[in-house]
Amino acid sequence: MSNRAKDSYNTTLDDFLNEDVLVVCPSCEGKAIVKAAPLRQAADDEQRVRVICAGCGYSKTLRETPKTVLYQTSRRTVTGRVFGMGGAADPFFELPLWLTTPFEGELLWAYNRSHLLFIKAHVEASLRERNGQENRNRSLGSRLPRWMTSAKNRTSVSKKIDELLARC
Ligand SMILES: [Zn+2]
Repeated sequence: MSNRAKDSYNTTLDDFLNEDVLVVCPSCEGKAIVKAAPLRQAADDEQRVRVICAGCGYSKTLRETPKTVLYQTSRRTVTGRVFGMGGAADPFFELPLWLTTPFEGELLWAYNRSHLLFIKAHVEASLRERNGQENRNRSLGSRLPRWMTSAKNRTSVSKKIDELLARC
């Protein structure tokens, strides 16, 4: 995957942070939600971004979590927030995502239902394209990892996504 494609996919991922992100609760290992926000807003409003578990009552805001040391000398320590996008953890608390499933040595993961539906739409758009129909979102679909959209995997990936949708 080229850097350009990776960057544009991360931009898309940021859009899904307008909705709750489903994560594994650090306390009871049940389904918890991260009240998320696009990264720029999240950095400005650390009180708003929080993880909440309806099962056990766990609750924590981003403000309550320690910042990362970005730079340190004997005189001075600079801290800040580092939000990691593009892995199977939420970008704020780094909790494992709830919506993950292994697929032939890879990990299929999504932040939430909208993200799953996005992946599903593009995997199935690739299927239609293979069948000779028009695919208007060729560039969007190309942002997904190749193993997801490769011809031999598309049908089984689509089934995996359906399984994850049932867990939302
Ligand atoms: Zn819990």
